Amino acid sequence: LTSKLPDVGTSIFSVMSQLAAECGAINLAQGFPDYDPPQALMEALARHARTPGHQQYAPMPGLPRLREAISHKTAAVYGVPAPDPNTEITVTSGATEALYAVLAAVVRPGDEVIVLEPAYDLYGPAIRLQGGVPVYVPLRIPEFTPDWDQVKAALTPRTRLMMINTPHNPSGAVLTPQDLATLAELLADTNAFLLSDEVYEHMVFDGQQHASALQVPALAERSFVLSSFGKTYHATGWKVGYCIAPPLLTAEVRRVHQFLTFAVSTPAQHALADVLLDPEQYTTLPAFYQRKRDLFGQLLQGSRFELLPTPGSYFQVARYDQISTEGDAAFAQRLTREFGVAVIPVSAFYHHGLDHGLIRFCFAKRDDTLTLAAERLRQI
Ligand code: PMP
Ligand code: GLN
Repeated sequence: LTSKLPDVGTSIFSVMSQLAAECGAINLAQGFPDYDPPQALMEALARHARTPGHQQYAPMPGLPRLREAISHKTAAVYGVPAPDPNTEITVTSGATEALYAVLAAVVRPGDEVIVLEPAYDLYGPAIRLQGGVPVYVPLRIPEFTPDWDQVKAALTPRTRLMMINTPHNPSGAVLTPQDLATLAELLADTNAFLLSDEVYEHMVFDGQQHASALQVPALAERSFVLSSFGKTYHATGWKVGYCIAPPLLTAEVRRVHQFLTFAVSTPAQHALADVLLDPEQYTTLPAFYQRKRDLFGQLLQGSRFELLPTPGSYFQVARYDQISTEGDAAFAQRLTREFGVAVIPVSAFYHHGLDHGLIRFCFAKRDDTLTLAAERLRQI
């Protein structure tokens, strides 16, 4: 078989988690919490897993009661008209499936897709599998802000889609309302769609608010906005996410979704619908993660890592040039093997593995995990 992705290895998240397990290292690499979802959510899942009638296929676009809850929550949080659960919301197998369904629905062979780099590792390969051509625009280090003039220069009549991710993986950068307004102006004269990956929507710190593409009407009308319950409810293993898009766009996403996974786990959708109307989880999440970010930062004071600003997400990027001149992949491996802390090399988020000497920590970990990891990191 001739590979369709000959240059692509196993995802860095699998590689580093496996290495962490082999070495008995603390896993600050792959982004997932080492604590559980809220008790009420786990109990709801157990309850629905025992409920006769909740064991078969859910409706293809998602359980109506979950789509209604998503609609209600979206309107309440972002002050926008409630998306229509029947025509504008699709529940997917994690944001991962939503990403793939959007790309498969929108991108034709030869279409250009603008991707801001570094970018989540599946973007480029998933675009290419549709025959699309990723057009990479670098974010500016150390703040990982977009240069909108460069984005403008990258737009061509062949641009089918632009992808953004705010808060951003791996950097934690957040786009501002001004960024979104600028983007809306840039896209105004084009036929390009927008995919806005907002899975970390409830992890924005220091009093700043998440700016959603849904809040800018000129963007919302051409946008697929994605989120994931995995991030918001500490339940990455449940793999439930969703896509909000105008009716014509949603219809196309569903055409793909119905043949990709058809539907998402019924008991998990019921359980999420039970808890979603209570705002407790997502209103407390910013403070919850801001405290972890600050704790991790304090614990690393006096270490030789230089932490870059992280206004959102549950990731912390760091320079290590006071410690080593190694490439980031080699350094990440050595950190795991010799010092017992697994991290992700940021070069894994660049299509040609561009190496800026940066590593990514995930701080979605218990305080004792962060404390132990920091003790090791301070000794390097
Ligand atoms: N987009 C980004 C930016 C992510 O970090 C992740 C989580 N790894 C996903 C999408 C995928 O989300 P899910 O786990 O819900 O499939
Ligand atoms: N999004 C998570 C991260 O960036 C990992 C998801 C995955 O393992 N595919 O670490």
